[in-house]
Amino acid sequence: MSARRILLVGPPGVGKGTQAERLASRLGIPKISTGDMLRAAVAAGSALGERARELIESGELVSDEIVIGIAQARLSEPDARLGFVLDGFPRTPAQAEALDGYLAGAGTPLERCLVLEAPEAELVERLLKRAQIEGRADDNEATIRRRMQVYRDQTAPLLAHYRGGSIVAEIDADSTIDEVEKRIDEALS
Ligand code: ADP
Repeated sequence: MSARRILLVGPPGVGKGTQAERLASRLGIPKISTGDMLRAAVAAGSALGERARELIESGELVSDEIVIGIAQARLSEPDARLGFVLDGFPRTPAQAEALDGYLAGAGTPLERCLVLEAPEAELVERLLKRAQIEGRADDNEATIRRRMQVYRDQTAPLLAHYRGGSIVAEIDADSTIDEVEKRIDEALS
């Protein structure tokens, strides 16, 4: 497995966060999740958290400007020099362009873009189950539907941005966590 600058893309509930965590720890590189960073800002009650809270709770995206800023700041930290697993960023074509520009400037382009896929009915069921366990503010049915719509409208178009090149692999994520992990390893080998 040689790729170290890896992007995971996929709809809410597809398991990006779980797989990003496992992959990052296997490779000894950081998992960089804008969702985690934004939730931490909300929990800390920072000015950024205040701006993000309502958007997250209603299933809307936080502005490109804010998210690009926090992602670039995190990517420029020393532990990301050896590589990273990106989870939840980029999420719009504008974010993808900003990321490409940043990485090209550093001479370290993305190596792989893994697209995780599963049927929407399965995703909604998983998120409703997670709502009972974790109590995330955005895991209620109305917000889940909105997040799916936002994914289709704003995030799915960015796949065209990467599909032109040869870094994209599609992963069937409608399976157990261990099985999906195996498929990701295979796609990276
Ligand atoms: P999901 O399970 O919906 O993929 P995430 O934890 O990645 O959840 O993100 C939760 C919320 O945080 C999103 O619905 C959005 O409001 C905000 N967010 C996270 N990443 C981004 C991003 N790259 N651009 C804009 N908003 C983001």
